[in-house]
Amino acid sequence: MSKPDLNCSFCGRPKPETQLLIAGLDAHICDLCITQAHGIVQEEASLEEGAEADSIELKPPKEIKSFLDTYVIGQEASKKVLSVAVYNHYKRLIQQTSKEDVEIQKSNVLVVGPTGTGKTLLAQTIARLLNVPLAIVDATVLTEAGYVGEDVESILSRLLQAADYDLSRAQKGIVFIDEIDKIARKSDNPSITRDVSGEGVQQALLKLLEGTVVNVPPKGGRKHPDQKFIEVDTSNILFIAGGAFDGIERHINKRLNLQAIGYNTTVEQNKIDKENILQYITPRDVRSFGLIPEIIGRLPVLTFMKPLDKVTLLEILTTPKNALIKQYIHLFDMDGIKLQFTSGALNYIVEKSMQYKLGARGLRSLCEAVLNDAMFELPDSDVKELKVTKQYADQKLSKIELPKLKVVS
Ligand code: ADP
Repeated sequence: MSKPDLNCSFCGRPKPETQLLIAGLDAHICDLCITQAHGIVQEEASLEEGAEADSIELKPPKEIKSFLDTYVIGQEASKKVLSVAVYNHYKRLIQQTSKEDVEIQKSNVLVVGPTGTGKTLLAQTIARLLNVPLAIVDATVLTEAGYVGEDVESILSRLLQAADYDLSRAQKGIVFIDEIDKIARKSDNPSITRDVSGEGVQQALLKLLEGTVVNVPPKGGRKHPDQKFIEVDTSNILFIAGGAFDGIERHINKRLNLQAIGYNTTVEQNKIDKENILQYITPRDVRSFGLIPEIIGRLPVLTFMKPLDKVTLLEILTTPKNALIKQYIHLFDMDGIKLQFTSGALNYIVEKSMQYKLGARGLRSLCEAVLNDAMFELPDSDVKELKVTKQYADQKLSKIELPKLKVVS
């Protein structure tokens, strides 16, 4: 007697039309229905996760700082200041739910320091710690509404994207505005016509920094396909602005020298660490540089980054949780190859990065250049070990023109 025709009990598809039909006690399920059911389970799980992520766990500043330590080398002053700012920011969120009289001001941060010293990395690490979405935007592409370029609101579209269009997560996220110094008012430009890329953008940013409700075009969000605008409240978004502020040292020096006029001068002057003038930065210097006072007022936490020296670069190369060298060792290990670096080789890579002013970003490009041949040749060879020495690195780097080395951002 032939078996009765089997069908999927969920979609009714007959067995021959399925790849697989799994039998239960008195039902069957086909491969397509399994995939669909799996999708539903996953979606439900991520909704639950989202709900959990909604409540941010308040971590004390020391804990925030020690998390930052595992990813960001040096920059002690900035890490400390940021840890406190982040702590206070999220305390403010918690307080909003209670009815206290004292209103805590937003702790938006301004980080001043040379490019490639870890400003973006700090913002990324904080977002990772708090498990909140992060949008990284470049202030130079922002223009006033109506001009060619991106409206200031586009910042929030990015944040929504980063939050996978979960509005409540986006509203507790972090925005890192890079190159904020590039929208400074040019003091040597007396033009009274509108300054498209400068002061106008600063004005447009003001409200966002302070906290306002903005209509944001969702830009293709899956969850809101028909919605024209999403209302985003920026009051709980933490803004971190960063910039190199090239030449701000002149303003700091000028102020320090002015202060030094009067008695006590020699003592004060002697105490100044001229190698690292940035550490004396005050909001006044940022204002002299060309940021409007209103913007400075809305970025009340000001901190600075130190230039990276040889020792720091070497540490960046080897010690953070996801240090480059650790990543390469892991990559080779996946092919069963034991990769080692002599300290001579590591020092050599750092020296080259310093010599050609490639900074921390250059370390990646240099390592790629040193290891590219091996990463190409070794996976299907019999070689099971590679020791990178200074000589080996030198031989590989001699094949390329270092000043033209593309720095990976
Ligand atoms: P910035 O935003 O200041 O221009 P980034 O944060 O983008 O610099 O740094 C570029 C890269 O250099 C980072 O991805 C990171 O790998 C490395 N880097 C820079 N500074 C540090 C640091 N202090 N500690 C660890 N890595 C760093």
